[in-house]
Amino acid sequence: MTLLQEILSYNEEFVAEKKYEPFITTKFPDKRLVILTCMDTRLVELLTKAINMKNGDVKIVRNAGAVVAHPFGSIMRSLLVAVYELQADEILVIGHHDCGMAGINSEKVFSSMKERGITQETIDTVSYAGINLDEWLQGFSSVEESVSHSVDMIKNHPLLVRSVPVHGLVIEPSTGKLDLVVDGYK
Ligand SMILES: [Zn+2]
Repeated sequence: MTLLQEILSYNEEFVAEKKYEPFITTKFPDKRLVILTCMDTRLVELLTKAINMKNGDVKIVRNAGAVVAHPFGSIMRSLLVAVYELQADEILVIGHHDCGMAGINSEKVFSSMKERGITQETIDTVSYAGINLDEWLQGFSSVEESVSHSVDMIKNHPLLVRSVPVHGLVIEPSTGKLDLVVDGYK
């Protein structure tokens, strides 16, 4: 059985046996909060458990590194939609220790791409088209700095109303312990 078949067959049973019932809620976050965090596997359940949030409490946007890389990219758009359309009144950026985006650099990613069959020619073509791939595939060296930077990008965004606090935190992916980096109330 492929992974996809496994997923679909479990899903059939999940729906038939109404296992969804404990999760029924609305699209509006009860805690009026939106979180930007990392896609790290260790945080899938740990993050919400560690801050006492359940289904329906919070909106979560995830990407590699919990980074706002572009002021008009899809991450910023998701945060703005959460605030203006979906009743989120506060924003939390939660990075984490031992993040896969820490220490990533474009050269490393390019060499993995080439091992899998992407040619240098293709990489050059994309670069010549005006895409700064080095910048785009760059990770960060300090998670605290990266979180602070993302908080600044969000807080100073021209389309975000100033009354929305933007907080920055770092979570330890084994214990769930949070450290405050930016207190958005200050
Ligand atoms: Zn991460």
